[in-house]
Amino acid sequence: MKETRIVKILKETATIGIGTVINVKGWVRTRRGNNTVAFVAVNDGSTVFNIQVVVDIDKFGEDKIKQITTGASISVTGKLVESTGKGQSVEILADEIEILGLADTETFPLQKKGHSMEFLRSIAHLRPRTNYFGCVLRLRHAMAFAIHKYFNDRGFFYLHTPIITSADAEGAGEMFRVTALNMENLPLDENGKVDYTEDFFGKPTNLTVSGQLNGEMGAMALGKIYTFGPTFRAENSNTPRHLAEFWMIEPEMAFYDLQDNMDTAEEFIKYCISYALENNFDDLQYLNDFFDKELIDRLRSILAVDFIRLSYTEAIEILINSGRKFEFKVSWGADLQAEHERYLVEQHFKQPVILIDYPKDIKAFYMKQNDDGKTVRAMDVLFPKIGEIIGGSQREEDLEKLLAAIDERNMSKEELRYYLDTRRYGTAVHSGFGLGFGRLLLFVTGMGNIRDVVPFPRTPQNADF
Ligand code: ATP
Ligand code: MN
Repeated sequence: MKETRIVKILKETATIGIGTVINVKGWVRTRRGNNTVAFVAVNDGSTVFNIQVVVDIDKFGEDKIKQITTGASISVTGKLVESTGKGQSVEILADEIEILGLADTETFPLQKKGHSMEFLRSIAHLRPRTNYFGCVLRLRHAMAFAIHKYFNDRGFFYLHTPIITSADAEGAGEMFRVTALNMENLPLDENGKVDYTEDFFGKPTNLTVSGQLNGEMGAMALGKIYTFGPTFRAENSNTPRHLAEFWMIEPEMAFYDLQDNMDTAEEFIKYCISYALENNFDDLQYLNDFFDKELIDRLRSILAVDFIRLSYTEAIEILINSGRKFEFKVSWGADLQAEHERYLVEQHFKQPVILIDYPKDIKAFYMKQNDDGKTVRAMDVLFPKIGEIIGGSQREEDLEKLLAAIDERNMSKEELRYYLDTRRYGTAVHSGFGLGFGRLLLFVTGMGNIRDVVPFPRTPQNADF
């Protein structure tokens, strides 16, 4: 018999019909009961809720019941009935039970509830079986789906930018080298340096830190594109907000200036949050009840306000006048740290902030230069609990100014020659931004550590599982 998923049983009970014989397949969460009847809570991953299976012990025999342990996979066929117990509306009276896979009670690590997040990280292969990770992974899926829907509905095209790149010019972070050379026996040139002409691509290549430069090439043809793919940074930042491998969403829009870019970023992130509230409320309610009592209020509060828009220079004044002692000193020209970003958002404004017009020296070469000669049309979207969630800018479309910025940074014009062609042929005002998918999930789930919103985190010293 084909299984009915639990989410459907609970949401469409009337359509299925009380009294109907159905089949459920899933994993045992708990078994309790007495000598005559066992109550087995089964979860199949389709929802945070379990379905209760009522088992007549005489009918199946003690030996079989003993195999129905926490973690085991079972297939149950039986009649759907209204439940008399509390905690569930319906349950299944078991007619047939098949034990699909045993789980040894001595060794299965998820016997009890209430494991620490640190412990669960050490069993990343099994943690999806917890309620917590079930919620996170369903929300992760929902957010990915919402992102595609948002852009598709608005005429953006999904552009696949390469993961292996020879451009290390973007300067967004340290990169991972990609090579097919034999590391035990490297070919050397006459100066004793590694001879990359012998390598697979004939030159050094890395894993991409951002799809943006390729994204711009797409936008200058299709008008509006977005990328949604993995990016990699070899920075040794062991923080709760950084991963070595993370997914990034990077829309790029021709004919959009910074204002349009800010409007898009704000509308987009609000769309994602309302999508979660509308479509994954059960998951959010669970996380709200057991992990973060303010989660749902916080999500709703974002939807209720217009984001503050403020220049970097104004932000620096606010931070200096705050009289706060920050770990990192505040001065015009210095990059903002998470503590500064969070002060602005959580203490000063108490709502999300979009900071613009950053000093050019702390931002990338491609950002549109302002007339003051000191700042660029960057925009960072700052969120409570997170700090920077989005980084973006209007791009410099003027070839001469872009070349000057490249020279100032001693970067290679040769390496950027294809990128520069977008300014040589039919250049236009354009803008875009990057949203870290993990940061979005951190916010939507209310979790404190980015390692706990990704199925298999990649961080310094950790590529297990
Ligand atoms: P931060 O200052 O927080 O390190 P960044 O300025 O290096 O971020 P960008 O290069 O602007 O980040 O990348 C765009 C977005 O990608 C960021 O706003 C953030 O959401 C996300 N992001 C950046 N680095 C990481 C990382 N190591 N792990 C997860 N997400 C990241
Ligand atoms: Mn940034």
